[in-house]
This record gives sequence, structure tokens and C-alpha cells, in this order.
Amino acid sequence: LIHKSQRVGFEESLQEKVISKKQCIGCGVCVLVCPSNCIEHPENPRLAKKCSDCGLCARICPRYEFSDPNIEKMLFKDGHMLSEDFGRFRRIAIAKVNDESLLQRAQDGGVVSALLNYALTSKIIDGAIVSSTSAEKPLYPVPKLVSTPEEVAECAGARYCYSPNIMALKEAFEQKKKSIAFVGTGCQIHAMRKLEAVPIAKYSTFLKFSIGLLCADAFTYEGLMERYIQGTLGINLNEISKINIKGKIIVTKKSGETVTIPLNIAKQFVHDACISCTDFSSQFADISAGGLGLKNWTFVIIRTRIGEEIFEGAEKAGILKVGNLESQKDAFDILTRLSRRKKKLPI
Ligand SMILES: Cc1cc2nc3c(=O)[nH]c(=O)nc-3n(C[C@H](O)[C@H](O)[C@H](O)COP(=O)(O)OP(=O)(O)OC[C@H]3O[C@@H](n4cnc5c(N)ncnc54)[C@H](O)[C@@H]3O)c2cc1C
Ligand code: SF4
Ligand code: SF4
Ligand code: SF4
Repeated sequence: LIHKSQRVGFEESLQEKVISKKQCIGCGVCVLVCPSNCIEHPENPRLAKKCSDCGLCARICPRYEFSDPNIEKMLFKDGHMLSEDFGRFRRIAIAKVNDESLLQRAQDGGVVSALLNYALTSKIIDGAIVSSTSAEKPLYPVPKLVSTPEEVAECAGARYCYSPNIMALKEAFEQKKKSIAFVGTGCQIHAMRKLEAVPIAKYSTFLKFSIGLLCADAFTYEGLMERYIQGTLGINLNEISKINIKGKIIVTKKSGETVTIPLNIAKQFVHDACISCTDFSSQFADISAGGLGLKNWTFVIIRTRIGEEIFEGAEKAGILKVGNLESQKDAFDILTRLSRRKKKLPI
């Protein structure tokens, strides 16, 4: 039950304080939870019918009164270390998947897909929410619920435009999933934690663990992909096999040719709401994963007990190879710099 004082309608809360201020990231969680189904369009939420002012969308929106200390209290009870820059953690590692074909498909070291596959085959989870690509628009990210290692592998790799993965929780609920993993950028992990904190039991009791992607920015599809890469550079989006960001945007074509885009050019296509984001390292995920300039390795920040259990399980099962962290000063420097820049701390 929501107390009378918290019953604020969509127009006064999300529309006025989030959407019109360009703070809406398009996570879609308000669309998902509205009991009257009156919000439509997760990427650009608006009222489709009369709102009953129940106040739930305001309580759940990660961009409306998000409280770090409350979420921290819920997640971190003991046994962790604290970095002012990238949050709480139990262990840090660099790792890569041992399966060569998965490594080829993956964005960095394939750790995200490997952990999902380990959890699926060990029956720790019966589904995972990831991001796939649209059948109509090349490289356009769409949320997807997957249930097999083959499906996980098909969705490996990163698309640098926004994917409202939260929306796939509806399908997980409808399919009566019992235990699922969730993959998303930091803001989607915020939305997921709010579902647990409020709580919205329907969409949160089956959440077993989450993997948060390190994230400096997400780009608009219309700007980066259609207007710049297709329009200005003349690259057919169907010809692209991979896009990666390592100090610059590297577009690899299916022919093997690469084209690079300086980040200062790409900046104009950053999603408006990313500009005020303060969480580079997905601080509230069970495990955070990023590339941080590494080649074919994933940098992993293991934050919670369940995150540690999953990572160690995959390591012991021989699915992951763990590398030498000692020589990773450059990756730590990038992690520190980007985390501090987002938090507006002196660099
Ligand atoms: C928008 C975005 C920005 C990022 N920015 C940075 C950065 O600045 N620095 C950095 O070090 N790392 C960044 N990353 C993370 C990095 O690109 C890799 O995803 C990460 O290193 C994991 O690599 P992997 O090989 O272990 O993952 P893989 O095994 O390849 O798995 C990646 C998983 O991410 C999912 N995914 C793909 N695209 C999206 C999306 N748009 N939204 C949500 N889920 C998605 C896939 O479905 C897959 O499950 C970013 C990722 C995204 C999506
Ligand atoms: S009815 Fe829907 S749109 Fe209106 S306040 Fe409740 S959740 Fe928000
Ligand atoms: S940030 Fe998410 S919950 Fe908040 S208004 Fe936008 S789509 Fe809705
Ligand atoms: S920069 Fe922040 S708000 Fe933007 S997609 Fe990444 S985590 Fe979300």
C-alpha cells in the first residue's frame, strides 16, 4: 500500500521532474509496473490513458529520488571493501572464457556470457535477461529473455545504444521463471534494485543475480548509427560485424576493414540522460564487467556474496581463465578516472 502522501500522479512526478528535465533514461520500469497500464513507450514514456495517481511509477523510477544509502544497506551487509570511486566489492579480477568460439562472439573476454552459461547449465538459474538485436533494424538493441547457452551466445557482444532490458521481466514472469539473472547498464541495475526495494514481488522475487556493465555513455541509435555511421560515413549498418570502444569507437566491418570514430565526434550523439549519470561502474550489481581498454579480457568487480559464488563456481568449473591483475595499472587508471568523472570528483 502506498501512503496518501506518496500518491503522486505521472504528470506531477515523472513528467515534470524526470522526463521534461531530460533525466529519463528510458529504462521502461514505469511502463512495466503501472497497475493501470496507462504508460506507454518505454523509451519515451507518456500517458496513454487517465492516470489514477497511485504514485507507484514515482516510487520505482531510478531517476526520481534514488537513494544510494538505502540500496547499499539492502545489498552490502559485511565482508566487502570500499572504493570511493567504484563502490563496494569483495574481489577484483580480469578473466576470459575458455571457449574460443564464445570469446570470438563476445565483446571483451566473454565473462558475462560465460557466467550466464555456467549458471544455466548448473541450474542455478532457468533464464537470463540480456539484450539482442532487432530483426528489422541492424544492431538496434532489444531486451531478450534467454534460456539456453546457445541463445546466450547469440546475444553476446555490446550494442552501444540503449536497451531497456527491464522490459523482459514481463516475459520472465509470464513464463513462470523461478530464478533469473539480469544483465544491464548501471541505470538498469538501479531500476532492478528499486523493484527489489519497494518491493514489486512479481518482478523481483525470481532475481538470483545481476551483472552490471561498466558504462561511460549510451548513444542514440538515430544519431550515431543512422545519421553518422550510415549517413555521414556511408557504412551500410548490415555490413558491420562489431563496434567496440577503446579510447575511440572502432567499427569493424564483416569484410574485416575497420573505421574509427573519435570520441569527441561521437559525444554529440550521447543520450541526454547519460550526461547526469553518476554511476560508471554499475555499483549496485552483484558483478560488474567492463573492457577498460583491455583486449580479449573482461575486467570484473565482484561485489556481493552471490556474485562471488557465481564467479568462483565458473572458475572452479574451468569455464573461466583468470589473468594477472598485478599488471593492470592502465585499466585501474581508466576505472578510477571514468568513475570520478561521472561522480564529479576531482581527477
Ligand atoms: C551502452 C554500453 C556502454 C559501455 N561502456 C563501457 C565503457 O565505457 N567502458 C567499459 O570498460 N565497458 C563498457 N561497456 C561494457 C563492455 O562493452 C562489455 O559489455 C563488457 O566488458 C562485458 O564484456 P564481455 O565480453 O564479458 O561480455 P559478453 O559476453 O559479450 O556479454 C555482453 C552482454 O551484454 C548484453 N548487452 C549488449 N548490449 C547491451 C546494451 N546496450 N544494454 C544492455 N545489455 C547489453 C549482451 O546481451 C550480453 O549478454 C559498455 C557496454 C554497453 C552496453
Ligand atoms: S496509475 Fe500508473 S501512471 Fe498513474 S501514478 Fe500510478 S503508476 Fe503512475
Ligand atoms: S527513467 Fe525509467 S522509470 Fe523513470 S521515467 Fe524514464 S523510463 Fe520511466
Ligand atoms: S551512462 Fe549511465 S545513464 Fe547512460 S546508459 Fe550508461 S549507466 Fe545508463
